[in-house]
Amino acid sequence: MKAREYSVGIDVGGTKTAYGLFNAQGEIVGRSRHFSDTKLPPEAFFDQVIGNINVLCAESGVDTRELRGVGIGMPSFVRASDGFIIRTANLPLIHDFPAPEYLTRGLGGIPVAVGNDMHAGALAEHRFGAGRGYENMLYCLMSTGISSGIIIGGRLFRGSYGFSGESGHMIVTPGEGPECGCGNRGCVSAYASASRIPIHIRKWIEDGEKTELTEPFSTVQIAEGWKSGDKLARRAIDQMTLYMAVWLFNLYITLNIDCFVFGGGLLNMDLPLLDMVRAGFDSFDKAGMPVTFKTAELGEDFGIIGAAELLRI
Ligand SMILES: [Zn+2]
Repeated sequence: MKAREYSVGIDVGGTKTAYGLFNAQGEIVGRSRHFSDTKLPPEAFFDQVIGNINVLCAESGVDTRELRGVGIGMPSFVRASDGFIIRTANLPLIHDFPAPEYLTRGLGGIPVAVGNDMHAGALAEHRFGAGRGYENMLYCLMSTGISSGIIIGGRLFRGSYGFSGESGHMIVTPGEGPECGCGNRGCVSAYASASRIPIHIRKWIEDGEKTELTEPFSTVQIAEGWKSGDKLARRAIDQMTLYMAVWLFNLYITLNIDCFVFGGGLLNMDLPLLDMVRAGFDSFDKAGMPVTFKTAELGEDFGIIGAAELLRI
């Protein structure tokens, strides 16, 4: 029997799934990427995952019997006790499924840990990235959606039903604003996430507001509009950063976490977005204690790194 010194981290997304093979030192020694087939039922989906793990190991010269475990981060509500998948965003057929049990059987008895992808991201940044050394940390994703992962007392806080940190669905204007993917109106995501900005701009245009912006109101165009002083670009960014500040302040006042680590595509907008959010946050913060805002350090690999870390929580 060979020593079990390798692990695999898998980051499942709505459009693609990334695989990383790690050696005992935690270095990435192999990687691959495949499309996520959203039409597959769970058995077929995870059969593909098993096949992709086998190919990745073979290509990297690693015998699958040398694996000490496989960790998978999913955009799912995952029961913390056993990794049972309750439901999954963007992969509607993946629900009510005992994924670790199924994968362990398909991989010849190797331990498999399945967890929420934001939880994986928080673990990665806390152990290896911008959150190193902080006892309490909030990992915040600002992208097409907004979400978070919570570290308290040095440990991941998963919550009773495994979806702690789904704070983008914090309701700030009940019954008002565009309907969110979660089915409610008034979620902070409906104001602060990139995918919702065009909905607001269209509404303002319908109401008679003037703008140089044109469909489909990309974030690049809005950033340019903001710089040239376009009224609706300014209004969209002001609204977005205000609600982001509300989101973060509500989390801060609830959890008293002093380190916020930010990742996600919105930060690539050519705007001082975090500075604007920080100004809003500071305007609410009457305690005045030190609070650190940092950008994530791990780049694109945070998903596979964090997924592998799900094996040790
Ligand atoms: Zn929502």
